[in-house]
This record gives sequence, C-alpha cells and structure tokens, in this order.
Amino acid sequence: MKIDRRSFLTLVAGGAVGTALSPLPFKLMDDISIWSQNFRGLPIEVPVPEDGPATYVDSVCSLCPGGCGISVRKIGKRAVKIEGRPGYPVNDGGVCLLGISGLQLLYGPWRVTGPRKKVNGKWKPVSWDQALSEIADRLADIRNSGRPHSIAAISGRAKGTVPGLLKRFVSAAGSPNFFNIPANDDAYSYAIGRMFGRAGAVGFDFENSDFVLCLGSGILDGWGSPVRMFQAHSSWKNSGTKTVQVEPRLSNTAAKADAWIPAKPGTEADLALGLANVIIRDGMYNRQVERGRAFGRLVKLVADYTPARVSATTGVKEETIEKLAAQFAAARRPLAICGRGKGHTPSPAREVMATIALNALMGSINRSGGMIVSPEFDYIKWDEPVLDQSARTGLSASPAGTLTDLLKQAADGSSVQALFLLEANPAYTMHDAGTVKKAIDAVPLVVSLSSYMDESSNLADYILPLHSYLERMEDVPVTAALKIPLVSLSKPVVEPLYDTRHPGDVIIQLAREMGGSISDSFGWDNYEACLRQTFGAKWAKLSADGYIRKSTLETFIDTALTGRMDFTPLAEACANSSGRQKNSKDALLVPYDSMRIAADNIGTPPFCLKTVSDRVLKKNMIYVDVNPVTARKAGVADGRTVTLETPAGKAVVMVNVTDEVAPGVVAMPRGFGHTAYDDYIKGKGVNVNELLMPEEDPVSGFDVACVTPVKFTKA
Ligand code: SF4
Repeated sequence: MKIDRRSFLTLVAGGAVGTALSPLPFKLMDDISIWSQNFRGLPIEVPVPEDGPATYVDSVCSLCPGGCGISVRKIGKRAVKIEGRPGYPVNDGGVCLLGISGLQLLYGPWRVTGPRKKVNGKWKPVSWDQALSEIADRLADIRNSGRPHSIAAISGRAKGTVPGLLKRFVSAAGSPNFFNIPANDDAYSYAIGRMFGRAGAVGFDFENSDFVLCLGSGILDGWGSPVRMFQAHSSWKNSGTKTVQVEPRLSNTAAKADAWIPAKPGTEADLALGLANVIIRDGMYNRQVERGRAFGRLVKLVADYTPARVSATTGVKEETIEKLAAQFAAARRPLAICGRGKGHTPSPAREVMATIALNALMGSINRSGGMIVSPEFDYIKWDEPVLDQSARTGLSASPAGTLTDLLKQAADGSSVQALFLLEANPAYTMHDAGTVKKAIDAVPLVVSLSSYMDESSNLADYILPLHSYLERMEDVPVTAALKIPLVSLSKPVVEPLYDTRHPGDVIIQLAREMGGSISDSFGWDNYEACLRQTFGAKWAKLSADGYIRKSTLETFIDTALTGRMDFTPLAEACANSSGRQKNSKDALLVPYDSMRIAADNIGTPPFCLKTVSDRVLKKNMIYVDVNPVTARKAGVADGRTVTLETPAGKAVVMVNVTDEVAPGVVAMPRGFGHTAYDDYIKGKGVNVNELLMPEEDPVSGFDVACVTPVKFTKA
C-alpha cells in the first residue's frame, strides 16, 4: 500500500485523537501515580502503610460539636481510615466528610511538632521544661505585681475536664477572666435560664416530629450533630415529616426542604412572633401554655406582630405567614428551631426566646417530637481550688464582662498581662478579626495550647503543642441538640507522633511549676488520674462503652414544665431590641456555612477543600452569591471581580449572580481566608469574620453579629 504525505498525516492525527479519547493515557497516569507513591527515596515520599492485618480502635470525633463515634482502621501503627462506629447513639455508623478527613489533621504538615518560643519575631524550638519554667516565672511576676486578675484564658470549648482544668488554673492564680468562644448552645442555655429559672441544655426530638420549622438553622449544612441530622432527614421521607427553611439563601438545607422562605436576614425573631400572633389570634394553641407565668404579657406582646407588620419587616408575604402559622399549628408534633448555619455563633436572645415561646404555644416542650429541656449535664464535682491571698484579691476584681470586652481591654496592652488560648483561634473565628489580632498582639504574654500553627498561635509568644484528638484520652461532652446529652470518651488511636503533650497534663505541670496554692489545687499526679477521679464509679462503664448518657427520665425536668415558664424575659428582650432592625439602603452581607468547610478553630483539610465547587472557590478567589436584581442595581456582572466594603473592612471577591439568594443579600461562605496553617489551607479567599463588626446582644451580651451593610465597587 502506498502511503503519501496526506495519508501519513491523516494516520498520525487519527492515532493521536484515538489515543486521547481512549482510556489508555488516563490509565497510564493513574498507574504512574500509584507506582510513584510506592517509590521510596523520592524527594516527596508518599507514606504508604506496610502490608499487614487491619485492627480497629473505637473513639469519638471532636472535630465539631457533633460528637460522633468513630472506628479507626489501622495497619501496624498507622491509622489509615476513619469510619463511623455502628451502634453509637449519636451517629450509628455514619461519618461526615470532615470526620473522614481527620487523618489529614493528624498527619498534616501544619502540626506543631514541639514547644516553640518566639524570639525576635521568629519561632525557636525550646524544651518543655524551659517553656513551662519561663511561663511560670512570668505568671509569678504578674501575681507579685498585684495584678493576678490580668491573667486571662480563652477556651475553644466550654465543657469538659480540660477546659475545667484551665478555668481552675486561672482561678487558683487569682483571675475571674476565663471565657469560652460562645456558640448557639450558650444562647439556648441563657434563654432557658431566664425563661425556666434554671440553666439547662436544649435538645430536639427530630426523629418523632412531623413538622420542623428551621429559623435559619442549616440542619443539612452542619447544624447540631451533623451526621445525626442527615440520618433524621432521611427518616423524614418515610415518616412524611415536613420541613420549612427560613433563610435568605437557598442552602443545601433549603433546597431539600418542603418550602423555602427567604426572609430578610436578621428578622427570624419577627417571623416567629408573627406566627405566634396568628396562632394566638385564631386560638390554635395548646391551652397548657396559659399556665405559664406572664402568659398575658406574651399575648399582649405578639398582638403587635400582626402579619402586615411582620411582612413589612421580614419581606415575607402576609398570606405566607398566615399559611405557615396554620400548617405549624395543624401538625401533631410541630417543632421550631433556631441557630443560623452550623449554630457556631449565638443567636440573639429575642430570637431564641421567641422560638421557645413558639414551641410552648404548641405544647412542644418536653414531649415526643418536641424541644427537650434538660438540666446541664454537670458531672465535674471537684473541690474548690486552694486560694492564697493574691488569688483572693484577684478574684474579688470584676471580670471583663464578655469575651469581646476582654479583647477590647487587651488592646490597651496593660489590662491583660497574660493570655492562654486553649484550642481556640479567636484571631480567625471572632468578628472584626483584624482588631482581635491587634488585641492579642498587644498582650505581653500569649501562650497557645494548640496542635496547629493557626492564626492565634502565630501571634503567641509560646506554643505548647498538644496531642491531636486521635492521640489522647479525654471526656467529650456532647449536647449538640441531642435528645439526651451524653459524655463520650476519646481514646488514643495512635501513639503521639511528635513532642506533644496532653492539654490536661500541660495545665497540671504548669501548676506544679507555679508551686504554692496553685500546685495544691491540682492534687492529681496526671490528667488520667484526674479523669478517673472525676467519673468515679462510672469510669468502668465510660471506658468500656465509650460513653455514658443520662436516662430519659433523669433528663426531663418534668412533664409539666410549661406551667413554670415565664414569658417576661421575652417581652423584655423585645423591648430592649426594638429599633435594632437594619434598614440599610445598601445590600446586606450574610455569611453562610457549608458541610465541606470547617469554619471554627480548625482549618479545612485539603480533602474537603477539593470537593468545593469552583463557583465557591476558584484558584484562590471566593465567590459571593448575589441576586440578579441586586447585581443589576450595583452594576456588577456574573464572574466579575469586585471589592466589598463593610464597616469592618474591605475584601476582593468574585460575583456569582444567582436567584438562589434573596434580593439585597450578598452571601459569603465562612471558613476561607486563613493566613496561617500551611500552603494547602492559607491564602484561599477571604475570612468573612474580618468583614463583620461584633454586635453585642442587649440582653445576653453575646456577640450575635450575622449581617452587615455592604457596598460594591469594581476591583
Ligand atoms: S459530624 Fe462532626 S463529630 Fe461527626 S464525624 Fe463529622 S466532624 Fe466528626
């Protein structure tokens, strides 16, 4: 056969196209990547477990407040996979994307591998003995100067023995200034304390409800205990449970709800009170609620929240309010919940109390399918710390008030002389994060107890690196909207990889170093001894089963709870919050949460980041969602780069024009814009917390900021 030039070129081109379209190149690339991972001695050696039989260690995940039971598969000494623990009361074998990515947080390069001290702005390795001795000397100087109350601590978690030990240390040193980063659980506890006369935890019996009204709560976007919420949602298909989602953006939760009501951001309490108005007006409530204290005040209060007025405030049509109230009241076991997104930031007291009142009107408190109010699961019964004269003097000083107040005071460089951060990253997670960074920077001694080189650790003077959650034993109290709270026990899955320590041991060792009454306040040899003593006779069950929970009967305060409810605090909260509705002519910036992105004190592992849509993060730029009407008014087009400006700061972002967000709203994802960790996590997008100013709730004092006016300019 004669092959001329034309035939030859056709043959070559055809061969190239055929090869490109065949799976061969992709198969080859796949094989090469697998082979290369097994090559030892390459510049980048990918760790591959040795061959061998698999073993499993059961523990608990503490990457979010969900508290799922996990079972970690190991080959030899290496953990290779995280699975959900079947039969565990929270998640029964389920696990989320972040949960399975936990190995990247264990083995990732952002771990701090040994104690560090900052010298002339640079991190230097230091021994544990030297670090603890120097910190103890600095604290002794502060106490000797007569200012023990200027020692402060911020914990990423409120509950459990480890935060309890740090609080005890700060008290024994003579300071009342211990704070945790508040979450919506704290807002519920506060509201329960005010409305029922005693502090308590709140859970929800989603599994038995037939109508769930979510006032902003992202029940499929990481709210509560996320795996449990996914499982409850799946069961609703069979049970016929209806869900209505109130929020300004078509989130994953809203997309899967029976109805989406895009109310104006920050008006959830108004909508709840508007529904209460219709329910009372039409006599659709459970008469038990009339036994509550000041029920008359509730009736008088909600009389003002007519559908017409609420429609004007919320942007929700009057007929929608009427219809929703009728549907909610007609359900046999209706349930209302609040707490925006993942619920990691507190909601305003008025909103939480209005939600509780709505449940009370339906008789949905402490009954099947309703809101479950229970006493706090308070299992830590230690003796009071031993106080010397310096500590007694310091503790008589007034505490800072709120965490925001503490950081405001810290900014002057003298009110806070020493600050401990316990697995907390306020320089990233708190609103107006830029100002928070400056405040932390102004404190003469900052000690970060953390596993990671996060934004706050970066600002510290010492980092005392901690075992990760897969390397340590610790109690993990789980409320997370569970019907029945429980305490889990995390167990070491692997031996510590680096020169790290257990946070409980670090605190006890620092107390020893301080000596005197502070050391005397910590009579335990080590953290494990403290843990065993804390649980006493229950230790055997806790360590064998991995959890203990209160029985249902113990949990319920009583079945006639509504009779002791007091609606006065709700009326007061409404009076104190009047006029706070934002009537900005500008668009409103609203943060949103996603299951794929960790938005609190841990960075998002690369495995999760890889799953994010390129309409959320493209290269290193994030998109904000903007309604077409708003985009047209602002003169911005889809895909354009713009500068957003709020009272707190500016940021450059890209615009995703979509009708999946309400007009007048600019929705920005949380969890981006890290400036610390490593190249996998930092430098991607914008931290929305830098654009939000703190907003102190006039009743609870929590920072409840969730929305701020925003202007666009073309970048
Ligand atoms: S939902 Fe939370 S606790 Fe459960 S696996 Fe995911 S990150 Fe861990």
